[in-house]
Amino acid sequence: MNISESKRLFNEAQNFIPGGVNSPVRAFKAVGGNPLFIKKANGAYLYDEDGNQYIELINSWGPMILGHNHPMIREAVIKAMEEGTSFGAPTAKEVEIAELIVSMVPSVEKVRMVNSGTEATMSAIRVARGYTGRDKFIKMEGHYHGHGDSFLIAAGSGAMTMGDPDSPGVTKGTAKDTLLAPYNNLEAIEKLVEANRGEIAALILEPVPGNMGLCLPNEGYLQGLRDICTREGIVLIFDEVMTGFRLAKGGAQELFGVTPDMTTLGKIIGGGMPVGAYGGKKEIMEFVSPSGPVYQAGTLSGNPIAMAAGLTMLNHLNSHPEVYTRLNEIGQKLTDGIGKVNQELGLDYTINLLGSMYSLFFTNEEIHDFETAKKANTGMFGKYFQAMLHRGVYLAPSQFESLFLSTALTDELIETIVTAHKSSIQEIH
Ligand code: PLP
Repeated sequence: MNISESKRLFNEAQNFIPGGVNSPVRAFKAVGGNPLFIKKANGAYLYDEDGNQYIELINSWGPMILGHNHPMIREAVIKAMEEGTSFGAPTAKEVEIAELIVSMVPSVEKVRMVNSGTEATMSAIRVARGYTGRDKFIKMEGHYHGHGDSFLIAAGSGAMTMGDPDSPGVTKGTAKDTLLAPYNNLEAIEKLVEANRGEIAALILEPVPGNMGLCLPNEGYLQGLRDICTREGIVLIFDEVMTGFRLAKGGAQELFGVTPDMTTLGKIIGGGMPVGAYGGKKEIMEFVSPSGPVYQAGTLSGNPIAMAAGLTMLNHLNSHPEVYTRLNEIGQKLTDGIGKVNQELGLDYTINLLGSMYSLFFTNEEIHDFETAKKANTGMFGKYFQAMLHRGVYLAPSQFESLFLSTALTDELIETIVTAHKSSIQEIH
């Protein structure tokens, strides 16, 4: 595979951009090799600057649930651009998308648009603090909520991949208000609550965490959190930046039938444009400025181009439930194929799957939290990643990420991926 142009660009980039990339995991540091510089994408494929084509299973880390460069989204963006790119004033599209989100996501009665998932989670915690008058919040080990200071403690995703789950630059003063708990352990939450009674503003978690590799909630776990938070007056926040509009049109909260007090959203909500949102109960969201005292603002928030892309995406998902049926079928078919190969070849593995999200861990231990996820063989994952890439399949360049499937994956492509998987495992095992 010739990747000389990607190599040249990476060398050049390192002179001007820290680590040569604008988001750490893109540098392929955990898996070795030169990152690919992508020129374009279409449907299920990415194309690099050297003209190589890859079937891809990340979909821009989640947003491209219908595949890349979908004509419907492209047309909506072009049409919106003809009317101007930013006004810094309210628009009809913002009203429309807010109504739509409220109708789709069970916990959301009012919603504020922002520009990224990071902004959504930072703002949600501030609002929960303003609403309760309390400072501390509970965060789960290995969950990732963007790069706000108070979340970069035992953080998953790139922070875990790079070996920096506790980032320098976060002050001790900030860190002391972040209380850590293991995922899937209600007893640990009870203990934290007992030790900090009346001081905890919020409990935030990824209901189905994808940022330490995909883990699933134990039976009754999410309802257990709901009950504790209700009892203690703690604002329960589901970070559905990954799972929102993906696991179901109403996200994990719809799928598991547990309604949080607040929800943070991102990725799919922007249809591939930079968008995030946070919302929740009216009485909590009324605390947000200008209806309340908690300040939060944004020059480009509710940007008309981003709203056009997001609205088109959400309207489509809202009116096409068959998208989720197909996504679930794709996830099942692909992981069945991969699992069958693994068994044939005697590989130690665990696959965690939910709908169109899955992770293949190189260990036969059950993976259900930060500690068990760390047992996965990352060296083996690196070799697997490279072997798949050389066979034209582009995976997330880290063991501690979920893959995100799109409706652009045909049954034929699934077979191609399983064949690539088989010869990759034969090569590295
Ligand atoms: N929350 C979750 C669950 C995420 O997965 C991410 C990003 O991957 C974020 C928040 C941060 O979103 P963004 O990268 O848009 O700032």
